[in-house]
Amino acid sequence: MRSTNSGYTLRCISCNTINDERETSTYCTKCGNVLTVDYKEPRQEIQYPLKDIQPDPLKTSYTALRKLTRISENYGAEVYAKLEYENPTGCFKDRGSYIEVLKALELGADAICLASTGNMAASVAAYACYFKIPCFVFVPEKTPEVKLAQSTIYDATIIKIKGDFKTCELLCREFAKSGNYYLAGDYVFRQEGQKSFSYELYEQGPVDYDYIFVPVGAGTNFAAIFKGFKELKAAGLIDKIPAFVAVQPEQSSPVVEGIFKKEKIIADHVNTMADAVAVGDPFDFYKVLEGIQETEGLAYTATENELLESMKEMTTQEGLFTEPACAIPLVAFKNNLDQFKGKKCLFVLTGTGLKSSHIVAKYSLSSPVLSPKLERIQQYIESGFPDIQRMSWGQSREMLLGNVAMDEEHTRLYDQYVNGINKKGKTLKEEEIKALKSLVYNEDTNLEHPVEVLDYKLTMRMHGLVSAAVKLRLPNGEEVISLDQGVGPLDAVLTAIKAETDEFIPVEVVKHEVEILSPDTESLVIATLTLEKEEHIFTSKGASPDTIEAIIQAFVKGLAIANKALAV
Ligand SMILES: *Cc1c(COP(=O)(O)O)cnc(C)c1O
Ligand SMILES: [Zn+2]
Repeated sequence: MRSTNSGYTLRCISCNTINDERETSTYCTKCGNVLTVDYKEPRQEIQYPLKDIQPDPLKTSYTALRKLTRISENYGAEVYAKLEYENPTGCFKDRGSYIEVLKALELGADAICLASTGNMAASVAAYACYFKIPCFVFVPEKTPEVKLAQSTIYDATIIKIKGDFKTCELLCREFAKSGNYYLAGDYVFRQEGQKSFSYELYEQGPVDYDYIFVPVGAGTNFAAIFKGFKELKAAGLIDKIPAFVAVQPEQSSPVVEGIFKKEKIIADHVNTMADAVAVGDPFDFYKVLEGIQETEGLAYTATENELLESMKEMTTQEGLFTEPACAIPLVAFKNNLDQFKGKKCLFVLTGTGLKSSHIVAKYSLSSPVLSPKLERIQQYIESGFPDIQRMSWGQSREMLLGNVAMDEEHTRLYDQYVNGINKKGKTLKEEEIKALKSLVYNEDTNLEHPVEVLDYKLTMRMHGLVSAAVKLRLPNGEEVISLDQGVGPLDAVLTAIKAETDEFIPVEVVKHEVEILSPDTESLVIATLTLEKEEHIFTSKGASPDTIEAIIQAFVKGLAIANKALAV
């Protein structure tokens, strides 16, 4: 261990007040703006605002710098990528978490807390766990399971909040003050860690890039990389800082808009599949603006469709499977070839695609389960499905199988569905036909239904309680009426059915999803249940203009699937 800096102060970037790190490492106590670390003098080696530093124990090598040869050739430029997803938790944030956790220990905090949309939670949890300091992560309810799983296995206390990131952040700031807790996040010490990107890049070869493309959420990483370059220049190691290019999804682009308006914009609603950069209130906006202005940089957005397309291109052309956020640089590059042709460009690939498997699942067709017969496999390969699956990337998967040839049994099953739906006085629209065909395509036509739901009735009670009366035919042919209550109609109906069926086919509903295909009241509803039986997880679907009925269908089908599995 050694001292690692020439002395430093925490300065407010707007009123220049020097803040005391024991009082704040987040916002200026005088004006509320953000802080930056100023070192007394430049040094050739990286400076950290810590008394002692030990090498990052979780990281054993630099993240790779790779030339994207095919993309370079296809578009006539020199394109490189720094694979930041090679960091220990699959995301660049580890650079910052390492320094933040050491700082929390140095300040003698009892625990670390932070609000995050996923990646930062996983990263801080990993370092807190290694350095043996408790960690509380506040995450919005919609956080992808993979990212939560990482925080969980690293022993963080997960506090899942009803609400969005903003709600989590406010709550976490309050929580931090309620004890001797270090508030981690996109704050000043994180930036000092993340600037190691630039030092690493410098070690890896000439940094004579014309442009560096950075996917931006809060802007902290952009600001950190820029600060690293400024320090390298101040130390006399480089003469010129590349131009910075800030890129965001069109549907979450307060930073790009702000750059054009030259003032900070806060977006109320941000909604993009690139959840890692879905930040409405960009904490480090003014630092990004400075980086753009000082380097004569650029700023671009990408649509959701462009993201999907470039994500695919990076995978198929270069073998790089990244989070959707990392596809934005390629979109910006391709949309503005006039600007970038012949130039040396660097894409910062911030996070791994393995954390975005839910996105891939959503925008591609899932494969049907085939019976283990060679002729069925042959029929499947010739059915056109695999080609459609490849070509369908980027379109919602519910719509794509309208044109696949169905065998006789599936056609019969499809007709059954359509009859039932017509009986309810509904005719299917084109989109709904496609969705229904897609659903039927994946169904097992040899299912025997042990239980039938003949009728049901719901009665609303006080406080959201609902009573359900469900008429069922049981496997022995007996007809029964089951009465039960639940919180809401779905819960009531499923509880009533399960009261009769659990005895002979016990299944648990792990998750239910309802997709309404069009905005009108007549819409076809597709219900998907995730069920569990003896640790075996499976899904089943139902389709009807009536939500409850779609759920009932899915559940009854689930019983049939479970029953069949049991019989084997
Ligand atoms: C956090 C994150 C970003 C955005 O970084 P900011 O510092 O918030 O601008 C981009 N990509 C991935 C994968 C991230 O996790
Ligand atoms: Zn200030």
